[in-house]
Amino acid sequence: MISEKNWAQELAKSLISLNQLSEKAMICESEVTELQKVKDTFDIRVPQLFIEDIIQGNTALAKQFIPSKNEIIFLPEELEDPIGDARWTPVEGIVHRYPDRVLFKPTYLCGVYCRFCFRRNKVSDASHNLKSENAKTAINYIKDHSEIWEVILTGGDPLVMTDKVLQEILSEIAAIDHVKVIRFHSRIPSVLPSRITNSLIQLLKSTNKSIWIAAHMNSADEFTPEAKIALAKLIDNGIPVLLQSVLLKEINDTHETLVSLFKVAIENRVKPYYIHYPDLAKGTEQFRIPLKKAIELVKGLRGTISGLCIPHFIIDIPGGSGKIAINTHTAKECKNNTWEFESPLDGTIITVQYPHGDEHSETFR
Ligand code: SF4
Repeated sequence: MISEKNWAQELAKSLISLNQLSEKAMICESEVTELQKVKDTFDIRVPQLFIEDIIQGNTALAKQFIPSKNEIIFLPEELEDPIGDARWTPVEGIVHRYPDRVLFKPTYLCGVYCRFCFRRNKVSDASHNLKSENAKTAINYIKDHSEIWEVILTGGDPLVMTDKVLQEILSEIAAIDHVKVIRFHSRIPSVLPSRITNSLIQLLKSTNKSIWIAAHMNSADEFTPEAKIALAKLIDNGIPVLLQSVLLKEINDTHETLVSLFKVAIENRVKPYYIHYPDLAKGTEQFRIPLKKAIELVKGLRGTISGLCIPHFIIDIPGGSGKIAINTHTAKECKNNTWEFESPLDGTIITVQYPHGDEHSETFR
């Protein structure tokens, strides 16, 4: 049986230094010095589970987790807080951007440090973790706002916290009557699946709320046998899992790579929910493809694979103005009640006239 000790030991075996990466031949010896400034700016953590695959040449994993010198090239458009969390932070640890839900960020630690992370200016630094008096204020904020229907635990990665700490947080949230849904945003099911222990499952099931997990995975290879078992364990225990991905250059920026990612997700009962265009975080230009190409890629999925496999394509407007779902197909009203639709099968424009409900009710009166 997987115990809490096992996952903590596995986490401790992740690679966190340039020397360790060099010893495993993930970077050249000369890069230990060349990449020092990158390491000083953005921490490294490569999960034990992916070490062998990266050594064997899995570039989709290597590009996500192995540092590169491009990360300290900052463009003027890139921001420390690309999605404007600070603008919507009424008290420390809470982001209240949309009326019915808040982000609650108790920790900035993760099981991996992704090179494209949109919170890379904060993650890995435990000094940003919520102190207990601030956690109390954050919980009181949720209590005092009866419009908050959903609490999204994020960070960092909330599932790196121990069961004991999670239990304290969950019991506080569970006691708030108007909160009906608790969602975890986590990369843990793929990077540290041993964390999905029986005791964690019992803890998640013990609340009286609807619990959801949005699992972050960007390539089909992240659905390892271990990850599949962890996902099945969550789902079999009544905890639905959504897939959240980022569209990343040379990682999943082809029709084929996206199709295999979304198909393997559905085959494992994980619903593709969002695919994000990379946020304008500092030093992440190497991960972006032109937005126009990104739209075409996502558009190419509709009509090719089952609708079950297709996520919303999302952009978080820089500065904190919210998420928008990008429409990949056009529906245009050309004259009263007559619409033009672009066929997802061959791109032809089809004109359809819809009877207008109100006009008919006039006729029948
Ligand atoms: S796991 Fe999430 S929060 Fe942590 S580094 Fe990766 S993208 Fe950022």
